[in-house]
Amino acid sequence: MSIGSIWRSAAVDAVCTGEVSNAFCAVRPPGHHASDRGEHGFCFYNNVAIAARYAQKKHRLARVLIVDWDYHHGNGTEWAFYDDPTVLFFSTHALYAFPGTGFADKIGKGKGKGLNINVPLPRGADDKKILGAFKERLVPAANRFRPNLVLISAGFDSRKDDLLGDFTVTDAGFAELTKLVMSIAATYSRSRVVSILEGGYNTEGLALAVESHVKTLLSN
Ligand SMILES: [Zn+2]
Repeated sequence: MSIGSIWRSAAVDAVCTGEVSNAFCAVRPPGHHASDRGEHGFCFYNNVAIAARYAQKKHRLARVLIVDWDYHHGNGTEWAFYDDPTVLFFSTHALYAFPGTGFADKIGKGKGKGLNINVPLPRGADDKKILGAFKERLVPAANRFRPNLVLISAGFDSRKDDLLGDFTVTDAGFAELTKLVMSIAATYSRSRVVSILEGGYNTEGLALAVESHVKTLLSN
């Protein structure tokens, strides 16, 4: 068992057995661009996708929601579950940025149709824009899907002043996004949330955003 697989399974196990209600995995490198086709965009293993499958196999959870607020589209995660009715993937991201995927008309296929939700946001997208996307698109989809576990691809390159992104989400904004995801988990998933770090390339800003996110998770 690799070190990578130990933390993923430990976080999912702790949350699924009720030892803790939520967990944050401060990991590097990120994972959401990686797929079974290989490494991509700094990512070697798709941590959130592996965590979802692990939770389904080990803890027999029927439905997993993955929420990805990284500045970049989680193309590896989309690829992993594109025709899968057991995983709802929701992503906000910049359409014009790497990796050039994440179009709104990519909604999944087969039994997974409607369970891949891409919400591309414009340059400079702020708290209001991203929260609006979560309220208008994620909440109704989650209400229909009724997840047993919620995973977050917690990328903070969507924060203001990031070196790779041009969104302007604040630390207070990330707290609001966290609260919204926690409310979904409280309704359907026994408050089970596993958050896994993705991007974030302004180290000081990343630390502040993570602090805001984790403080909010701890408020449960
Ligand atoms: Zn990113």
